[in-house]
Amino acid sequence: MKKVKISKKIICAILSIMLVLSMIGCQSTPTDTTDSANTAETNMFKAGNYTATATGHNGDIKVEVIVDDTSITKVEILEHNESPSISDPAIERIPQSIVADQTLAVDTISGATVTSEAIIAAVTEALKQADGDIDALSVKKAREKTTSETAEYTTDVVVIGGGGAGLAAAVSAHQNGAEVIVAEKMPQVGGNTLISGSAYNAVDPGRQEKQGIEDSIDKHFKQTYEGGDKEGNTDLIRALVEGAYPAIEWLESMGMEFKDEVFTVLGGLWPRAHKPVEPLGTGYINTYENYINENDGIEVLVDTEVTELIVNNDKVVGIKAQGLNGEVIINANNGVVIAAGGFGSNVEMRDEYNQTWPALTNIKTTNHTGATGDGIILAEQVNASLVGLEDIQLLPMGDPETGSLSGNIEQGVENRIFVNKDGNRFVDEGERRDVMTKALMEQEDAFMWIVLDKHSYPTGDTKNNFNESIDELIEQGRAYKGDTLEELAEKIGVNPENLVKAVEKFNEAVENNESDEFGRTLFDQKIDTAPFYAGGRVPTVHHTMGGIEINTDAQVLDKDGNIIPGLYAAGEVTGGIHGANRLGGNALADIAVFGRIAGESAAAGK
Ligand code: ADP
Repeated sequence: MKKVKISKKIICAILSIMLVLSMIGCQSTPTDTTDSANTAETNMFKAGNYTATATGHNGDIKVEVIVDDTSITKVEILEHNESPSISDPAIERIPQSIVADQTLAVDTISGATVTSEAIIAAVTEALKQADGDIDALSVKKAREKTTSETAEYTTDVVVIGGGGAGLAAAVSAHQNGAEVIVAEKMPQVGGNTLISGSAYNAVDPGRQEKQGIEDSIDKHFKQTYEGGDKEGNTDLIRALVEGAYPAIEWLESMGMEFKDEVFTVLGGLWPRAHKPVEPLGTGYINTYENYINENDGIEVLVDTEVTELIVNNDKVVGIKAQGLNGEVIINANNGVVIAAGGFGSNVEMRDEYNQTWPALTNIKTTNHTGATGDGIILAEQVNASLVGLEDIQLLPMGDPETGSLSGNIEQGVENRIFVNKDGNRFVDEGERRDVMTKALMEQEDAFMWIVLDKHSYPTGDTKNNFNESIDELIEQGRAYKGDTLEELAEKIGVNPENLVKAVEKFNEAVENNESDEFGRTLFDQKIDTAPFYAGGRVPTVHHTMGGIEINTDAQVLDKDGNIIPGLYAAGEVTGGIHGANRLGGNALADIAVFGRIAGESAAAGK
């Protein structure tokens, strides 16, 4: 039997409860609705259908609100362009909550705050048209708790976190014969994978040979090890680089599609990054979700925040969590996998561990809001060894407003340069991420422009790695276009002579195919074909390399180097693989490779 999407099923159940409560609420206040003598005074709205729009993450969100004299009867989203998956919970829940609670003061959905706020703003506009008292409607209403009972489950493998690593572990554990429950604290699965540019490094002779690219597992190993200042564990790196391509084949066996061409991702150092056919990281997450929905035996509990590991006779045998309606206990017959991600969104933790950068307090992050380091705190409870927590990766690629990766106009490393506010280049743009970010921090306002040309965007409809077309970005004021470099320079306020000179010198290096003044060796096309484009970028926190120490079976080690029975970990929550600096494109490989291993080990109860 085909199951409905688990996450949606749970959301629907919650919403039905909320709707029932709201109906009970209406019945218990009959004076408001039946006192016909006072109709004029008690009418809250001018009954009718109203539409309004407000700006969301990716443009306008249009809503229709239906009211009768005394209540909001329906809120519907008519049009929106918000990112698939990420905004779904807000699109589904905010309208329902407004109707259920008859208030505009509903909680925004974590991870989809901008979308939530835009929906609320549009509904506010519509209710103004309906003569609603916005102040009164903006009062938060206390809602009765539905239940406060403890829900208890027993399964074979519990996975903490439903990001890329957690879902890989869940699927793998299931393929190895286990029943699985995934506990995810956010209202949706997907984690950082969903909002990533999705580059996946793997040595892939089939694809690379067609493009004339020489590569080898040893080269990938060497670049990963040396790119991390030789601080990574060589056994784990070996497992990563050797497992990367088989994990691509594993994903493909479940229906995932990758493009034929590989490319060099920012800080990836070599053209071995694979790009999924579906936008952003949706291809990975949809693949895992399809598997989960098509097979019995994996349950995903969203809105379920794990707070404790249950230990019995020194073995981890389950978890305790907080769900929307009370405590959740899940007993694990075989094992528990921690896949709760890094701590890029936890400013206190970043400040506590950071030793590499000047204060990070005011630096934004590319991460989703659930990346708060919970897995590391859980592991500490059982004396797990933690390694490399001081190694925090920044990118020079943050959106100046939000810190997110979206709006990044580069298509790959080879065909673009970075210039500062004077229009001068300042770094080898094919370098390691830490090197480029440090160089950026020394520029005025730690701000730079990515500059490229028609080679990257043959048409205005061409999309970046975040599913945004260059025309859209220009319209939103997030990218600029010029028919000449001088025109572009004027639009972005940099010295035109400097910009022209910078591009000329870059083009010479491409022409001669030799290392340029910054030592750059990764080139392909010249920047010489109009239109020219520029997009602004700032430093942003991206990845926390440190975390739980594991062995090549993804078993968690304690501070004395012993295996902690029943406990496994995978993904950004682990440490020791990437060392001081992670290569671009290695994270998605890491979470698939080690998620897969962790699932297999946990299923076996190794
Ligand atoms: P990775 O790339 O390693 O999969 P992500 O950050 O993408 O890491 O995903 C981690 C997932 O774990 C996120 O979906 C996050 O919301 C979830 N998570 C974090 N802390 C908890 C917790 N305490 N309980 C349940 N899920 C959690």
